[in-house]
Amino acid sequence: MSTDADCIFCKIIAGEIPSFKIYEDDDTFAFMDINPANEGHALVIPKEHAADVHAVSEAAIAATVVSAKKVAAAIDKTLQPEGLNLLQCNGPAAAQSVMHFHMHVLPRKNGDDLRLNWGLEPGDMEAIGQLAQRIGANL
Ligand code: AMP
Ligand code: ZN
Repeated sequence: MSTDADCIFCKIIAGEIPSFKIYEDDDTFAFMDINPANEGHALVIPKEHAADVHAVSEAAIAATVVSAKKVAAAIDKTLQPEGLNLLQCNGPAAAQSVMHFHMHVLPRKNGDDLRLNWGLEPGDMEAIGQLAQRIGANL
């Protein structure tokens, strides 16, 4: 499986950088976003390094979508959000800041006024860690 020694998400998969992991299988890894656009914001990534939708293999993107569905169900069970986006960005103009393919699993509420390019605001790490455990318990 190809990895990139300089990639922050490859380092998270390898355990070289800490993360609030909620799910892992042979091909994918899911963890909490530490700059959550909303409570419960999570990311799902293939273990195989690929920058974007053009580079990712069909097998890796398929596995990532299946895991995103599982994570979405666990977030729904844990937080009962009013809505939920699955989002994926390609290239800086599309607001991609980490060049390892990833899907956002983003809980929504009526009137939250979130827009694409929402910016990065660090979250409360204790609260994010507790949520990771609650969501992970529903997987
Ligand atoms: P994107 O802008 O679509 O590339 O999304 C990248 C996401 O990765 C952003 O929402 C960041 O908050 C998130 N992110 C970056 N570094 C980390 C990290 N070390 N742990 C968790 N999430 C991260
Ligand atoms: Zn990577």
